[in-house]
Amino acid sequence: MQAKNGHVIIGGGPAGLAAAYELARHAQRVLVLEATPHLGGLARTETYQGYRFDIGGHRFYTRLSEIQRLWEELLGPDLIQVRRLSRIYYQGKFFEYPLSFGNALSNLGLGESIAVMASYLRARLFPHRHETNLEEWLTNRFGSRLYRIFFKTYTEKVWGMPCHTLGADWAAQRIQDLTLAGAILSALGGKSRAKTLIRTFHYPRLGPGLLWERMREAILRNGSEVRVNAPVTGLKREGGRITYVEASHQGATALIPCDHVISSMPLGELVQRLDPPPPEEILASARALRHRAFLLVGLILEGRDLFPDNWIYVHSPEVAVGRIQNFRNWSEALVPSSEHTSLGMEYFCDEGDTLWSQPDRDLIALAAQELEQLGLADGSRIVDGVVIRQARAYPVYNAEYRTHVARLRNYLAGFQNVQTIGRNGMHRYNNLDHAMLTGLLAARNVLGARYDIWAVNADSTYGEAL
Ligand SMILES: Cc1cc2nc3c(=O)[nH]c(=O)nc-3n(C[C@H](O)[C@H](O)[C@H](O)COP(=O)(O)OP(=O)(O)OC[C@H]3O[C@@H](n4cnc5c(N)ncnc54)[C@H](O)[C@@H]3O)c2cc1C
Repeated sequence: MQAKNGHVIIGGGPAGLAAAYELARHAQRVLVLEATPHLGGLARTETYQGYRFDIGGHRFYTRLSEIQRLWEELLGPDLIQVRRLSRIYYQGKFFEYPLSFGNALSNLGLGESIAVMASYLRARLFPHRHETNLEEWLTNRFGSRLYRIFFKTYTEKVWGMPCHTLGADWAAQRIQDLTLAGAILSALGGKSRAKTLIRTFHYPRLGPGLLWERMREAILRNGSEVRVNAPVTGLKREGGRITYVEASHQGATALIPCDHVISSMPLGELVQRLDPPPPEEILASARALRHRAFLLVGLILEGRDLFPDNWIYVHSPEVAVGRIQNFRNWSEALVPSSEHTSLGMEYFCDEGDTLWSQPDRDLIALAAQELEQLGLADGSRIVDGVVIRQARAYPVYNAEYRTHVARLRNYLAGFQNVQTIGRNGMHRYNNLDHAMLTGLLAARNVLGARYDIWAVNADSTYGEAL
């Protein structure tokens, strides 16, 4: 049955588009409101001088057969399979990932390898009884020496805060046994590879943007609408029912009547935009949720075979860059020139901090200098650069976030016609597949099903460190 007013989907990222696609496929009228000019959210593809850049490289990997099928249906032969190669750079050395015994030993040295194993055994014999933070979680599993060598600097680079202030559940959800530490320990113990390591992945030939374009076409074909540059600025409510969504578009503000609202905008922001506002303690929780930002310096360089990795994790504290993508190694089609390479130098930051606020030309100069310092390419080979800033890239799992999320979730459960989905929409480390699944399930709930969206990815076992 067609809804009276239609349904409003907030956010044209993977979760919102999946919800809209599913509803439109079932002949429901949908309006997608996306704040930015791009579809795809964190997983969009941006183009500069014909070079295509991911906001971080996006592997398409899932154990959800329904999501895999959806990707295959929409992308057909444009969903290519990519061999994975990624190494870790630390103290001037590249650690293979997964490690070979010889590589681990020669990089760490015999003395350090023995010290690592001894500290690991100590941690297993005398663990922290209660793992309240990330430092304790990591030390219990890998020993304090390996934790200090490999986890502390990189993790603190990513989060900009000490590991003992980060919640343990971030690691529990993301690290599992896929880490360098697990790899080193199994390599030193004579086992060849971490058992769950993902060695190939899928990827859209022209970047993830291709998928969002196909989804948009399908949504439009079914008579619905996708509006970009249309940020949602308010949600009018009567008790526990959203009656209108307020959005600006082309210089005007529209009040859009709605039957259901499915929202992938950040959970805290959604709650703060309710009108009339919720009680103060709910607003306080909404304001308390934090995010980490991210910026990518895209560099275009002469030469086509700089290094063989898809990406390199940079654990060394002497440079600020956290990870380096080599886009040609994801898909040749991302790079329009056979004589050039495009890299994505990834920096983790907070919105408005010193790094975030630097002029683009300074950031490009920093990236060029660090690339040279790491010995990956001579700065003189760089012909052009571009900076892409991304606010709210990572939901922060600090000591209090669980309480705040639970309070907001509980409050919104009292509403009849709003569901929150996706990554920031649920303040949960959802990857593409889980974000899309929450969108599909929310759509089916609108159609009469009763799925518990919060059960999705509650105990994922195949996430991987960033
Ligand atoms: C650096 C990085 C690398 C990643 N790599 C991978 C990977 O390899 N594989 C993988 O599976 N996942 C990866 N992810 C995760 C993946 O990007 C997310 O899971 C996915 O994008 C989440 O989709 P979403 O729709 O929930 O949220 P988002 O992608 O954040 O989309 C939300 C959308 O809502 C819009 N919005 C926000 N506020 C408003 C508003 N007020 N009004 C209207 N619109 C609004 C935003 O502009 C955005 O477009 C990575 C993420 C990052 C940051």
